[in-house]
Amino acid sequence: MTTGPRVAIIGGGYTGCAAAIHLRRTSPVPLDISIVEPAPELGRGVAYGTPDPDHRINGPTTAHFIYPDDLEHFDRWHRNSGALAADPESVDGLGRVFPRRADMGRYVGGELQAHQIKNPSGSSIRHVNTRAETVIDRDGVFAVTLDGRDELTVDQLIITTSNAPPAVLPALRNVAESHSAFYPDPWDIERLGTIGKDAKILIVGTGLTMADAAVMLLRDRPGATVTAISRRGLLPTIQRTVPPEETLPEAMAREVPEFVRRHGTPKRARDILRALRRDADDMMAEGGEWQVAFDWIRDAAYQLWPALSADEQSRFVRHLWPWYETHRFRFPPQIETKIQIAIEGGRLSVDAAALLNAEPRGDKIEVTFRRRGNVAVQAETFHAVINCTGPERKPRQTGDPFLQNLVSGGYLVNHPLGLGLVVDDLCRAQNSKGDYDGRIRVVGPLTRGQFGEINGIPHTAFHTLRIMPNILAEMETVDAEGA
Ligand SMILES: Cc1cc2nc3c(=O)[nH]c(=O)nc-3n(C[C@H](O)[C@H](O)[C@H](O)COP(=O)(O)OP(=O)(O)OC[C@H]3O[C@@H](n4cnc5c(N)ncnc54)[C@H](O)[C@@H]3O)c2cc1C
Repeated sequence: MTTGPRVAIIGGGYTGCAAAIHLRRTSPVPLDISIVEPAPELGRGVAYGTPDPDHRINGPTTAHFIYPDDLEHFDRWHRNSGALAADPESVDGLGRVFPRRADMGRYVGGELQAHQIKNPSGSSIRHVNTRAETVIDRDGVFAVTLDGRDELTVDQLIITTSNAPPAVLPALRNVAESHSAFYPDPWDIERLGTIGKDAKILIVGTGLTMADAAVMLLRDRPGATVTAISRRGLLPTIQRTVPPEETLPEAMAREVPEFVRRHGTPKRARDILRALRRDADDMMAEGGEWQVAFDWIRDAAYQLWPALSADEQSRFVRHLWPWYETHRFRFPPQIETKIQIAIEGGRLSVDAAALLNAEPRGDKIEVTFRRRGNVAVQAETFHAVINCTGPERKPRQTGDPFLQNLVSGGYLVNHPLGLGLVVDDLCRAQNSKGDYDGRIRVVGPLTRGQFGEINGIPHTAFHTLRIMPNILAEMETVDAEGA
């Protein structure tokens, strides 16, 4: 039985499991690790919990890793486990592999299990199969309340609850509470499965979550049609066709990222945009791909973003973020093809429109909106309205009491721009007194306010590994004091 420092990881998706694996791999002392996760299986989370065969990872296997020193690990697993044989469509025309997200979840869960069994450092990892509700600091030790009954006593907290269902836009409030045709959670596949075969469907949002929902619904419902709307009506873009010269971890580990080498660290959002445009133009003039310029920003974001003032960050969020995201996040090629076929076949339309209101009309919903460039307001009735506006990052709006309890208890602080929680460069959470508490770390997408770019696995893996020595150093102190 482990008697070392006790760690609770709240959230057992990719980030929670990667944190446990790296703690286990790098700790010089045995740790007692509990992963609190309500789902029956670890490793899937929201991102990789979907069972749908058309829900794929949005980059190739080699960009999806747990071990930055072995980028081929997932690719080998995919080939050797039979996942590739069961899913030949995962290989695109250029030979790159874009597996099903369900396979990614299976891989992460399997790796965690292997670390649970094989345990040279003497650490233990157990799955506490429930939700965390709140945390109380009792004389330097945390009591984590679980589902209103049990309690877990730990020295260190790592919060990886990441992706909450999207917030409901004000225009949809009249139907949000209980209308049977409103689908607030785009990842509730079981509920989406109840949509009728010939349904006329509205999807609010035009990003990757929309693509997941549209491809799945149109595949299983030959009589259905989908209208997807967002303010700008921008779809995600296509993948690069020429593989990058250096791997993502190599690019991110550079002391001076390529963008910084070319442009320094601009202090204004506008100057970043100018530099980005220039790079994209240069790339295309040389016969290259504009996506490279966005990848340079992506790889330098953790240096560029903190260098902007709060006002400039706010400017970026208000004016550039949606545009940046649609260029930065790219369709898996298989999904891009299906979306194009649906558009050309008239079964999917994608529009820029302002959503004005939604009203119940029996078992349907009437939505009023104004298409871009049109003064006229249009009203249309739909059998189903699905909320696909992207994960909610403001703890107070997620509806999950855990983060809200920690904010109201003074342990966490909401990021002023709504980008998760306030942390420092080592992912230490800021408390209401303004101090950074190394005993509470937040890892993954909820740290976006600090790093600017943290959504995908490469960034999460990079930062998880980077902060490990600091977490372990603090925990050794806990161990020494407690001994
Ligand atoms: C639909 C979707 C698809 C994505 N696809 C990709 C992709 O292809 N490639 C990529 O690199 N990135 C992708 N991302 C980005 C994704 O955010 C990162 O990969 C992320 O790191 C995923 O893992 P996670 O564990 O941080 O978050 P999540 O997958 O959101 O997992 C969080 C976990 O926390 C648990 N939890 C929440 N509240 C509590 C609580 N109170 N107590 C206990 N547990 C709790 C949840 O049950 C969940 O299992 C995707 C994101 C989404 C939402």
